[in-house]
Amino acid sequence: MESYNSFKVARQQVLEAAKLLNLDDATKEFLSTPQLETNFTLPVKMDSGKTQIFHAFRIQYNHARGPAKGGIRFHPEETVDTIRALACWMTWKTAVVDLPLGGSKGGVRCNPKILSEMELERLSREYIRAISPMLGVDIDVPATDVYTNPQTMAWMMDEYETITKRHSPGVFTDKPIQVGGTEGRRDATARGGIITVREACKAYGFDPTKEFAIQGFGDAGQRAALLHKEMLGGGKLIAASDSRGAIYNKKGLDPEELVHHKLKTGTILNFPGAKKIPHEELLELDVEILYPAALENAINIKNAKNIKARVVCELANGPTTPDADLILFKNNVHVIPDILASAGGVTVSYFEMVQDKSLFFWEEEDVHKQLDKKLTLAYKRVQEAIKEKKVHPRLAAMLVGVARVAQACQLRGWV
Ligand code: GLU
Repeated sequence: MESYNSFKVARQQVLEAAKLLNLDDATKEFLSTPQLETNFTLPVKMDSGKTQIFHAFRIQYNHARGPAKGGIRFHPEETVDTIRALACWMTWKTAVVDLPLGGSKGGVRCNPKILSEMELERLSREYIRAISPMLGVDIDVPATDVYTNPQTMAWMMDEYETITKRHSPGVFTDKPIQVGGTEGRRDATARGGIITVREACKAYGFDPTKEFAIQGFGDAGQRAALLHKEMLGGGKLIAASDSRGAIYNKKGLDPEELVHHKLKTGTILNFPGAKKIPHEELLELDVEILYPAALENAINIKNAKNIKARVVCELANGPTTPDADLILFKNNVHVIPDILASAGGVTVSYFEMVQDKSLFFWEEEDVHKQLDKKLTLAYKRVQEAIKEKKVHPRLAAMLVGVARVAQACQLRGWV
């Protein structure tokens, strides 16, 4: 929703946590402002022979706990403020799961759906040429995000290594396995989210074998649809959406067939047996678990009161606005906030960095086991904060994340 500025939202969340933590003014100011921002242009030769100028960003929000970490998005509506917000959320996300990393994010304002493979490659390489001195295993480590993928990371890593004349695969994560990627990264965000749903079901008695819906059938959404049943012992996917529309079938949508259909046709629309419903209706369906897995501000002041899901597991970054958070809390909707629910991706990215550094690669089951340990522990820590402070889950998660980052800043003597 355009009426929300994502960075204003993110800042408001930080300041609220900072107030409850009694942080001093300097710390508050420091933690609600990015440490380093770059805003640049990329001239790219298009297939037509003409040059097109793209606007790009990389923001290192905070690196007190370790190298900055965060994905790169290719999206037509990218602005400096969306990237600021996303970099901010990465900072608390890595802290909530207790990774020795900071937070960053990058983006290019472009529509990758209308770019050719060659144009995407040139754009990716140009992006790295512009910011390579800002990157490094011990400085800032990008990864995939909306509309970027392991191939994008392979091009970027290659460009970086060409410039620096050194192999350093750990500067990018979510790479293809053949060039230093890790097992278990592709479904890590969804897997992490489902681990947190499992813990929520244990803690509050929700029933994962009932109906669920997925808003945003991209990478994370598709993997969640596939893993939900496998990891939670059942459950019926009754609705899903993508940028083109939403579909519904009371009897259930077969996740595997729907993934196949999306791959074949490029959309979930016209899936046999399903009817098209308005986008907004999907979010308001009476389901046990709702997975918002698209973009920011999807659940907001307009629709929060109509949300009937018992659990909202946020696989997207920033899908719920602060005003909506209060309504959901009042209505007893259990929100598993993005900085916890979507932390599986960056957690396995961290495992990828560890493996790249040691040149020793783990088996898939080791990745799954370590991910489960990290996410279960983080869920429990946030639960404790909910109980201790009697606050809604996002604020509780923010309290955990912000306190850890504040402590690192203080120990360094920055504030
Ligand atoms: N883009 C993912 C996120 O928002 C992963 C980031 C990473 O692995 O660095 O969490």
